[in-house]
Amino acid sequence: MVLGLPLQDNCQRMIYDACIIGGGLAGLALSIDLAGRGFSVVVIEKGNYPRHKVCGEYVSMESYDYLLKICPSLKTVNFPFVNKFQLSSTGKKVFNTPLSLGGFGISRYLLEQLLYEKAKQVGVTFHLGTKARRVFQDTHLKRYSVSIASQELFSRLVFTSTGRRADERRKGASYVGVKYHVRLERDESLIEIHNFPGGYAGISNVEEGKACFCYIINAQCIKGSNKSIGEAEKKYLYRNARLKEIVRSSEFLFKEPVTVSGINFNIRETVADGSLILGDAAGSIAPITGNGMSMGLRAACMLSKFASEYFTGIISEAELRKKYSNYWKDEFESRIKLSRYFQKLSEKPLLSNVAIRVFSACRPLARAAISLTHGQPFL
Ligand SMILES: Cc1cc2nc3c(=O)[nH]c(=O)nc-3n(C[C@H](O)[C@H](O)[C@H](O)COP(=O)(O)OP(=O)(O)OC[C@H]3O[C@@H](n4cnc5c(N)ncnc54)[C@H](O)[C@@H]3O)c2cc1C
Repeated sequence: MVLGLPLQDNCQRMIYDACIIGGGLAGLALSIDLAGRGFSVVVIEKGNYPRHKVCGEYVSMESYDYLLKICPSLKTVNFPFVNKFQLSSTGKKVFNTPLSLGGFGISRYLLEQLLYEKAKQVGVTFHLGTKARRVFQDTHLKRYSVSIASQELFSRLVFTSTGRRADERRKGASYVGVKYHVRLERDESLIEIHNFPGGYAGISNVEEGKACFCYIINAQCIKGSNKSIGEAEKKYLYRNARLKEIVRSSEFLFKEPVTVSGINFNIRETVADGSLILGDAAGSIAPITGNGMSMGLRAACMLSKFASEYFTGIISEAELRKKYSNYWKDEFESRIKLSRYFQKLSEKPLLSNVAIRVFSACRPLARAAISLTHGQPFL
């Protein structure tokens, strides 16, 4: 593998090919992919690795080949493969179906750590514990500068993969995400989604025989429970008998849950201030469809190809932006819009009970709904 080294300008300043702001899943994948093509890459990440993140930790199979290509050490992980789906609500009826594509389970803690190690191995430079503050586009010199703590970083392109945006927290309904790792006896090839008034919880296995138990709940439910997660769980989650049983029979492995607030499902822009945007920063999908990670990875895969065409002079920067924006819109916009309907449906027990009945009576409809929120494998 060729290691891309940054060039220096007349003032001895390093000019990277790519500066990536945000080293979550999408940013890390893009950094490895670009560095693997021989480009010099710097990643600015405000946190550190490894760390737990709120996520259902179910990765759709569409990303499997790509992940293993950019990070072969993932082959050593004994992750459970998932090919069955179960949906329940407050009613008695439960819907079960096989998944045609399916997925696998891996904790974000391990996944990001392995990707980070791979990125370092292929020569990516990291600024950890550092927040990117300002991006400036110098059209004359055809380069960007990104300011971090006490210095400026220079690059030919800037990518933003900073996840969901805090500044949109006040728009529309907002949700809180809560995650635990637990141990309990369960079928590791099954992913379960259990609706409750105000939200839904998912459970599926990850590595080392652990299961990820994660739920998303309307922020109003937490507010109305004295802002107490425990109180909200008793008041809302326990209305679904299956969730009460999962909580009762689980050994909880964290002292406190990992939480995140201000979740929304807005479509944003793919280019801003010249920076190309990917992952949740471009738009986030409701987790009921279980596919945000694959969307971030797919965008990283395509963006790396398009950026490579720009770096090698095949397309201009304007063409790169257009090509990426069109690709993103075609691939993800309808999935995100559809996921919002599922999100709303899942929050309302009456509607979700009806949906379970309809899906049970008309299985092709359920299969069509699942496949509309997923893409085909990519490399
Ligand atoms: C409750 C819940 C359950 C989910 N379950 C699933 C699931 O089962 N399967 C699935 O595929 N998806 C799931 N998702 C979605 C998935 O978690 C996201 O789509 C995915 O994390 C997006 O990755 P990302 O790299 O775009 O963003 P992130 O993982 O959020 O990474 C963004 C990174 O940018 C950094 N950052 C932010 N601002 C700055 C800055 N100014 N400077 C430097 N660094 C910065 C952050 O520290 C962070 O590390 C779920 C989401 C939620 C909320």
